[in-house]
Amino acid sequence: MKKIITLLVFVAFIFLAAISSTQQSEKSLFKPEIASSPLAQKIFSFIEKNREAIIEEWIYLTEIPAPSGHEEKRAKYIEEQFEAAGLDETYIDEFGNVVGIWKGTNQGKNIIFAAHMDTVFQGVWEIKVTREENLLKAPGVGDDTSSCINLLWSIRALKDAGFKHANNYYFLATVGEEIGFRGLRLFLDDSKEKFDMLIALDANLGSLSYGALGFGGGRVVFRGPGAHTMNSRGVPNPNLAVAKAIDRIYNISVPAEPPEKYTIYNVGMIGGGKVNNAVSQESFFSIDLRSGDQAELAKAARQIEEICRQVADEMEVEVEISLNKNARARQLPGARHSTLVRTAEDILKFLKVKDLEIDPLGSTDANAGIERGIPSINLGRTYCRYNHSLREEAEIEGLFVGMKQDILMILSLN
Ligand SMILES: [Zn+2]
Repeated sequence: MKKIITLLVFVAFIFLAAISSTQQSEKSLFKPEIASSPLAQKIFSFIEKNREAIIEEWIYLTEIPAPSGHEEKRAKYIEEQFEAAGLDETYIDEFGNVVGIWKGTNQGKNIIFAAHMDTVFQGVWEIKVTREENLLKAPGVGDDTSSCINLLWSIRALKDAGFKHANNYYFLATVGEEIGFRGLRLFLDDSKEKFDMLIALDANLGSLSYGALGFGGGRVVFRGPGAHTMNSRGVPNPNLAVAKAIDRIYNISVPAEPPEKYTIYNVGMIGGGKVNNAVSQESFFSIDLRSGDQAELAKAARQIEEICRQVADEMEVEVEISLNKNARARQLPGARHSTLVRTAEDILKFLKVKDLEIDPLGSTDANAGIERGIPSINLGRTYCRYNHSLREEAEIEGLFVGMKQDILMILSLN
């Protein structure tokens, strides 16, 4: 009897191991032979031959200002280039995104590659790039103009080599990424196509993110009647309510593990009162709350609300709580070990990219795909520093590695 039980346990164990291994690990589609194939060599040598032209066009595109909401000039230029490169269909959609479709030879997958055109530099209409050895310096030069150039030249190089493929590639230069992935969200909601994969290009080289970080948090305001200090005995003080609430909020425990559920908050701003000799009538604090997991976000938000209402009750002040209810954290089951992530991981390792970082907490155009259940990742472009500041800079050599990464992704997914 004991033997039979042992045998049954053993069989069950093997069965479960088989199930979990098929669930956990999909196949990587990259093989080193892909990179050494005559086709890949031809593509890479096209890139090498055009090195200076690539850098020049990168400078040219960076100098076309494109703060979110004002991407038209860049869009027009990119659309012209997509068309000249020989894509099957190119257009600017009603939201301002540039769409370039390269149809496959048969029943392939629908795969999106997206780089964003917009920058955070509202009101900056004069941009001049300076080149210093391996660096280009200008606002927006890295984030995300370098990805637009990566995309454009990857297409040209693949076209030049006569690349044939089964998949339908949708190359997108998007608008409004910096204001909540707006352009890509609208494109996906409007499209009648079903997309199988989405690859966004918008980070430092070596970064590979596969989940959507959600942003909760918001602002809490306490209000009371106010009073001169001399008459303030017993008068509820909104400043004290702010202090008590923050103190209690910092006792909320949120998970640091596993990485998919990582959650964190910060009270970044507090304020209240107008003068030294009166009780404040209105005091506030802001809270930044982020998580890779929607349930954790909702749970923390609920606890914050409860604490604030309780403090308001105890202190006899009014409270107004405005928390973002549209946080949209999302993880796709099995994403870490999916074909898409494993293929990208193998390519980055093959290219010996330093600082490989595989992260479930992305905040790029890939989020728009993940929210809609499309397997999506974000990849890097080159090494950039001081993003979102006027002294932004990007490394020239890294761009050429980024381009190889994109080309190997396309060759592998085919
Ligand atoms: Zn960006």
